[in-house]
Amino acid sequence: DLRLARISSAIRVIPNFPKPGILFQDITTLLLDTKAFKDTIDLFVERYKDKEISVVAGVEARGFIFGPPIALAIGAKFVPLRKPKKLPGKVISEEYSLEYGTDKIEMHVGAVEAGERALIVDDLIATGGTLGAAIRLLERVGVHVVECACVIELPELKGRERLGEKPLFVLVSGD
Ligand code: 5GP
Repeated sequence: DLRLARISSAIRVIPNFPKPGILFQDITTLLLDTKAFKDTIDLFVERYKDKEISVVAGVEARGFIFGPPIALAIGAKFVPLRKPKKLPGKVISEEYSLEYGTDKIEMHVGAVEAGERALIVDDLIATGGTLGAAIRLLERVGVHVVECACVIELPELKGRERLGEKPLFVLVSGD
């Protein structure tokens, strides 16, 4: 698909951010390219429009950029999965391990119902810790996670292995 090359070249790579040695994939330049941004959303919508998905769950923060336009286009609701202590209502949370220590994501109780079909969206998969926690969070409340979708995958970090059997769809590779 010719659209993928344009998307890939619209993503800027910034060395040593946020720490020395990290090559950061910056999607803000993709958002500035109106054609590449639209193509990104269109590719996801083409894949998910007929999959009877009732909820798109977006991971903070950049899943909040790509998730909502996909949700609107496929007729699904949008549910934010947030960092701890951001959501005002009652939450359920799921922990995951980082290189040093742990982190958590949270979801409002009542945002989804058992039996719903979900798509989880984030900008990028690195180690897969974040998406793994998002899958567990939704499955704990009886939601069927159909697939995870990201714009970028860093395949060297083998994040897919942390998703178990869950399918992952990505547009471009970051290495
Ligand atoms: P993981 O949990 O797979 O190790 O890390 C993925 C999470 O970290 C995602 O929420 C993603 O937004 C963020 N992340 C890690 N590295 C990068 C990067 O190079 N660029 C961007 N845009 N996000 C990153």
